[in-house]
Amino acid sequence: MATKDTKLTNCPKCGSPLSPVEETPSGKKLQRCSTGSWNPETRQVEGCDYVKWFSPEPEELDESCPKCGAPLVMMTTRAGKKMKKCSKGGWDREARKPTGCDFVEWFNGTKEDLEEKCPTCGEHLVLVTTANGKKMKKCSTSGWDREKKQATGCTYIEWLNSGATSPSNGTKFNGDENFPEYEQ
Ligand SMILES: [Zn+2]
Ligand SMILES: [Zn+2]
Ligand SMILES: [Zn+2]
Repeated sequence: MATKDTKLTNCPKCGSPLSPVEETPSGKKLQRCSTGSWNPETRQVEGCDYVKWFSPEPEELDESCPKCGAPLVMMTTRAGKKMKKCSKGGWDREARKPTGCDFVEWFNGTKEDLEEKCPTCGEHLVLVTTANGKKMKKCSTSGWDREKKQATGCTYIEWLNSGATSPSNGTKFNGDENFPEYEQ
Protein backbone atom coordinates (compact mmCIF):
# COMPACT_ATOMS: atom_id res chain seq x y z
CA MET A 1 0.00 0.00 0.00
CA ALA A 2 2.85 2.45 0.57
CA THR A 3 3.30 3.88 -2.85
CA LYS A 4 6.85 3.93 -4.04
CA ASP A 5 8.16 7.45 -4.10
CA THR A 6 9.59 7.72 -7.52
CA LYS A 7 11.85 10.69 -8.00
CA LEU A 8 9.58 13.23 -9.64
CA THR A 9 11.24 16.43 -10.65
CA ASN A 10 8.51 18.01 -12.71
CA CYS A 11 4.90 18.73 -11.95
CA PRO A 12 2.66 16.21 -13.72
CA LYS A 13 0.00 18.91 -14.02
CA CYS A 14 1.85 21.83 -15.54
CA GLY A 15 5.39 20.59 -16.15
CA SER A 16 7.09 23.14 -13.91
CA PRO A 17 9.82 21.95 -11.56
CA LEU A 18 8.70 20.84 -8.14
CA SER A 19 9.65 22.78 -5.01
CA PRO A 20 11.91 21.27 -2.36
CA VAL A 21 10.29 18.90 0.10
CA GLU A 22 8.44 20.72 2.86
CA GLU A 23 7.20 19.56 6.20
CA THR A 24 3.79 20.35 7.65
CA PRO A 25 3.40 21.29 11.32
CA SER A 26 2.35 17.73 12.00
CA GLY A 27 5.52 16.34 10.45
CA LYS A 28 4.17 15.11 7.15
CA LYS A 29 6.33 15.62 4.11
CA LEU A 30 5.11 17.02 0.85
CA GLN A 31 6.39 18.53 -2.32
CA ARG A 32 4.41 21.06 -4.26
CA CYS A 33 4.67 22.61 -7.67
CA SER A 34 7.06 25.56 -7.73
CA THR A 35 4.41 27.68 -9.42
CA GLY A 36 2.00 27.08 -6.55
CA SER A 37 2.20 28.20 -2.97
CA TRP A 38 0.11 27.74 0.13
CA ASN A 39 -1.34 30.95 1.45
CA PRO A 40 -1.95 30.45 5.16
CA GLU A 41 -4.18 33.52 5.29
CA THR A 42 -6.66 32.51 2.64
CA ARG A 43 -5.99 28.81 3.36
CA GLN A 44 -5.84 28.23 -0.35
CA VAL A 45 -3.24 27.20 -2.83
CA GLU A 46 -2.29 29.94 -5.21
CA GLY A 47 -1.09 28.98 -8.65
CA CYS A 48 -0.73 25.33 -9.58
CA ASP A 49 -2.26 23.20 -6.87
CA TYR A 50 -0.29 20.01 -7.47
CA VAL A 51 0.88 18.49 -4.20
CA LYS A 52 2.78 15.27 -3.85
CA TRP A 53 2.50 13.70 -0.44
CA PHE A 54 5.14 11.37 0.82
CA SER A 55 3.67 8.32 2.43
CA PRO A 56 4.98 7.96 5.92
CA GLU A 57 7.37 5.05 6.18
CA PRO A 58 5.69 2.26 8.09
CA GLU A 59 7.83 1.11 10.94
CA GLU A 60 7.77 -2.63 11.49
CA LEU A 61 7.07 -3.63 15.01
CA ASP A 62 8.16 -6.63 16.94
CA GLU A 63 4.54 -7.56 17.52
CA SER A 64 2.17 -9.70 15.61
CA CYS A 65 -1.41 -9.07 14.69
CA PRO A 66 -3.83 -10.58 17.21
CA LYS A 67 -6.20 -11.31 14.35
CA CYS A 68 -4.03 -12.94 11.72
CA GLY A 69 -0.50 -13.18 13.12
CA ALA A 70 1.13 -10.99 10.48
CA PRO A 71 3.63 -8.40 11.72
CA LEU A 72 2.24 -5.08 12.91
CA VAL A 73 3.49 -1.77 11.63
CA MET A 74 3.41 1.68 13.22
CA MET A 75 1.87 4.24 10.91
CA THR A 76 1.46 7.98 11.23
CA THR A 77 -1.59 9.52 9.63
CA ARG A 78 -1.66 12.80 7.79
CA ALA A 79 -2.99 14.42 10.93
CA GLY A 80 0.02 13.19 12.88
CA LYS A 81 -1.77 10.49 14.79
CA LYS A 82 -0.01 7.23 15.36
CA MET A 83 -1.50 3.83 15.01
CA LYS A 84 -0.43 0.25 14.95
CA LYS A 85 -1.91 -1.65 12.11
CA CYS A 86 -1.64 -5.02 10.53
CA SER A 87 0.87 -5.17 7.68
CA LYS A 88 -1.73 -7.15 5.76
CA GLY A 89 -4.22 -4.32 5.98
CA GLY A 90 -4.78 -1.72 3.31
CA TRP A 91 -7.11 1.08 2.48
CA ASP A 92 -9.47 1.21 -0.45
CA ARG A 93 -9.65 4.87 -1.33
CA GLU A 94 -12.63 4.51 -3.57
CA ALA A 95 -14.77 2.51 -1.23
CA ARG A 96 -13.25 4.40 1.74
CA LYS A 97 -12.90 1.24 3.74
CA PRO A 98 -10.11 -1.01 4.91
CA THR A 99 -9.07 -4.00 2.84
CA GLY A 100 -7.36 -7.14 4.02
CA CYS A 101 -6.86 -7.51 7.74
CA ASP A 102 -8.52 -4.61 9.50
CA PHE A 103 -6.69 -4.71 12.79
CA VAL A 104 -5.87 -1.17 13.95
CA GLU A 105 -4.83 0.04 17.34
CA TRP A 106 -4.54 3.76 17.91
CA PHE A 107 -1.64 5.08 19.87
CA ASN A 108 -3.22 7.76 21.96
CA GLY A 109 -0.23 9.19 23.71
CA THR A 110 0.40 9.00 27.40
CA LYS A 111 -0.70 10.86 30.49
CA GLU A 112 1.17 11.15 33.73
CA ASP A 113 0.10 12.76 36.99
CA LEU A 114 2.30 15.56 38.24
CA GLU A 115 2.81 16.90 41.74
CA GLU A 116 2.42 20.43 40.47
CA LYS A 117 -0.73 22.41 41.02
CA CYS A 118 -2.58 24.29 38.32
CA PRO A 119 -1.86 28.02 38.61
CA THR A 120 -5.40 28.75 37.46
CA CYS A 121 -7.57 26.54 39.63
CA GLY A 122 -5.28 24.70 42.06
CA GLU A 123 -6.10 21.18 40.86
CA HIS A 124 -3.17 18.96 40.00
CA LEU A 125 -1.52 19.03 36.61
CA VAL A 126 -0.93 16.14 34.26
CA LEU A 127 1.88 15.71 31.80
CA VAL A 128 0.46 14.68 28.47
CA THR A 129 2.42 13.30 25.56
CA THR A 130 0.26 13.59 22.49
CA ALA A 131 0.06 10.98 19.78
CA ASN A 132 2.34 13.07 17.63
CA GLY A 133 5.00 13.31 20.29
CA LYS A 134 4.34 16.77 21.71
CA LYS A 135 4.44 17.28 25.43
CA MET A 136 2.28 19.54 27.51
CA LYS A 137 1.27 20.09 31.06
CA LYS A 138 -2.40 20.58 31.44
CA CYS A 139 -4.93 20.82 34.16
CA SER A 140 -6.45 17.51 35.25
CA THR A 141 -9.92 19.06 35.14
CA SER A 142 -9.68 19.91 31.48
CA GLY A 143 -11.42 17.89 28.86
CA TRP A 144 -12.51 17.98 25.28
CA ASP A 145 -16.07 18.08 24.07
CA ARG A 146 -15.92 16.18 20.82
CA GLU A 147 -19.36 17.19 19.70
CA LYS A 148 -18.92 20.88 20.23
CA LYS A 149 -15.22 20.61 19.36
CA GLN A 150 -14.22 22.76 22.26
CA ALA A 151 -12.28 22.47 25.47
CA THR A 152 -14.15 21.93 28.71
CA GLY A 153 -13.11 22.52 32.30
CA CYS A 154 -9.98 24.42 33.15
CA THR A 155 -8.11 25.56 30.07
CA TYR A 156 -4.63 25.84 31.56
CA ILE A 157 -2.07 24.35 29.17
CA GLU A 158 1.67 24.73 29.10
CA TRP A 159 3.40 23.31 26.04
CA LEU A 160 6.86 22.00 26.74
CA ASN A 161 8.19 21.98 23.20
CA SER A 162 9.86 25.26 22.49
CA GLY A 163 7.93 27.47 20.17
CA ALA A 164 4.77 25.42 20.21
CA THR A 165 2.00 27.42 21.77
CA SER A 166 -1.03 25.61 20.53
CA PRO A 167 -1.91 22.07 19.60
CA SER A 168 -1.14 21.51 16.00
CA ASN A 169 -3.62 19.46 14.08
CA GLY A 170 -1.68 19.97 10.95
CA THR A 171 -2.71 22.23 8.16
CA LYS A 172 -5.80 20.95 6.50
CA PHE A 173 -4.90 20.31 2.91
CA ASN A 174 -7.48 19.10 0.51
CA GLY A 175 -5.14 16.71 -1.19
CA ASP A 176 -5.70 13.05 -1.59
CA GLU A 177 -5.96 10.99 1.48
CA ASN A 178 -4.03 7.91 2.42
CA PHE A 179 -5.78 7.25 5.65
CA PRO A 180 -9.24 7.55 7.04
CA GLU A 181 -9.75 9.87 9.95
CA TYR A 182 -10.86 7.37 12.51
CA GLU A 183 -12.50 8.70 15.58
CA GLN A 184 -10.24 8.05 18.52
ZN1 LIG B 1 2.30 22.52 -11.53
ZN1 LIG C 1 -3.82 -8.95 10.79
ZN1 LIG D 1 -6.79 24.21 36.36
